[in-house]
Amino acid sequence: MANVTRRRFVTGGAVGLAVIAVDLARARGQTSPPSAGPPDAKLVEDLVAANRILVDQNVLDGYGHVSARHDRDSNRYLMSRALAPELVAAPDIMEYDLDSNPVDARGRSSYLERFIHGEIYKVRPDVRAIVHNHSPSVIPFGVTGVPLRPLYHMSAFLGEGAPVFDIRQAAGGPSDMLVRDPALGRALAQTLGSRTAALMRGHGAVVVGPSLPHAVFRSVYLEMNAKLQAQAMAQGVNVTYLDPEEARRAEASIAGTLGRPWELWKRKALAK
Ligand code: MN
Repeated sequence: MANVTRRRFVTGGAVGLAVIAVDLARARGQTSPPSAGPPDAKLVEDLVAANRILVDQNVLDGYGHVSARHDRDSNRYLMSRALAPELVAAPDIMEYDLDSNPVDARGRSSYLERFIHGEIYKVRPDVRAIVHNHSPSVIPFGVTGVPLRPLYHMSAFLGEGAPVFDIRQAAGGPSDMLVRDPALGRALAQTLGSRTAALMRGHGAVVVGPSLPHAVFRSVYLEMNAKLQAQAMAQGVNVTYLDPEEARRAEASIAGTLGRPWELWKRKALAK
């Protein structure tokens, strides 16, 4: 190894020095993955907007995060540095590999629970945006065993249900409830499976979509559905939900109209 490095240095000049620097960083365990290059400016703008929209819509508060898969490389994703979502601006957006290592941290700190994002992107090639939130009306459904079901057409994406992730099983005992390592992220991704959302017992939820508008829309209506379902259940025991075929058809129809609320929410959120 040393001989190879020296030969590179002798023959390669500046390139050789760079190789040595990378070798030394690897030897110390400080691997920084290569960048996929600058993301599309519109994607970054939408990611900033998504952060602000989700605060406006009472899905995120001082906590929670939203990410988007990089447009140039499906093995990279973009997410803000550790910051309250309402404060996120374009310079806060960082690039991560799917092991959730920051590409170019430059002293910026990362969300502790970023493994939620990386591990889901690994196993769900259809997913291009992810929201992790502590959406208030959803919390009871994560702790009572009452399944969250699609009450109306806006939440037709719940047609396949929202499984509950219990971190106690994944961690093999008590934890601080945070998805703070890759193994916990993998277990959550496994619980999510092919679905659009999973609840996290005593914590919150994760919502995925094929685009940022989808993931944002689903997060907003996951909260709304939870609130309305609790109201419906308080009124009577015979609640009629969308049946699987209604959910499938409604989901297909709604998908074509997402641009309408998205443009409204984005304009309001970015005007602040
Ligand atoms: Mn959390």
